[in-house]
Amino acid sequence: MGPMAEPLLEVRHLAVHYGGIEAVCDLSLQLEEGEKVALIGANGAGKSSTLKALAGVVPFAQGSLRFDGRDWTRRPAWQRARAGLILVPEGRGVFPRLSIVENLQMGQMGQMGHSDPAALEKVYARFPRLYERRTQAAGTLSGGEQQLLALGRALLARPRLLMLDEPSMGLAPQRVDEVFEVIAEMVQAGTTLLLVEQNARRALELCDRALILESGRVVFSDRAAVCLASPALRAAYLGE
Ligand code: ATP
Repeated sequence: MGPMAEPLLEVRHLAVHYGGIEAVCDLSLQLEEGEKVALIGANGAGKSSTLKALAGVVPFAQGSLRFDGRDWTRRPAWQRARAGLILVPEGRGVFPRLSIVENLQMGQMGQMGHSDPAALEKVYARFPRLYERRTQAAGTLSGGEQQLLALGRALLARPRLLMLDEPSMGLAPQRVDEVFEVIAEMVQAGTTLLLVEQNARRALELCDRALILESGRVVFSDRAAVCLASPALRAAYLGE
């Protein structure tokens, strides 16, 4: 096997610590290009910490990260984002006082100031409501609209690996459908996905594989269909 056979993302033995707290312990994960993986677990299991460590927002206490054939373990968040490791954080990370168009342009900043008007037009075509309100402060958008704005911004950052932390958090059911529709379009276009989602059933139905975390450790790693087919796992982690 040559270097072409390397997965898009390879995490080995990741540990995340906050002072004396071990939020993530010995997590290993490989993602092939185009794969979709759901990260599931109870509150405090370490899901957000895992995404933050991959994005470079919190440091690896242990372990290593390879992405697209290179070692990124010690590289800063902005370099990872520029390489296409894009995190949409819990709570969306929208800048409330900036306008919608300014928020969207933030997504293109990684491309060395070369904003791409055609890409922006595509996002507006997909999200007409953002276009209608483009000069308004982002803080005036509803929660669901802010989530769409965060997804639009992520699209403009040209993700090679898109990491979404609780994209449906706090949204009305109709808005949840809309957000999942957009995510499904992104993955159909070939974007590799790592999805943290409280609605575990929806996440599993969208994804190829699942990782279940408990107290910072991986307790299950298999095809999503295997998890959905198991009454015990469904009872324990899907509340069904
Ligand atoms: P949730 O579903 O509630 O968001 P999670 O699975 O995403 O949970 P994390 O947010 O990664 O879990 O938290 C894992 C553990 O690390 C928890 O015990 C949490 O209290 C702790 N933790 C997270 N962030 C910090 C921090 N900044 N300082 C100290 N402890 C933290």
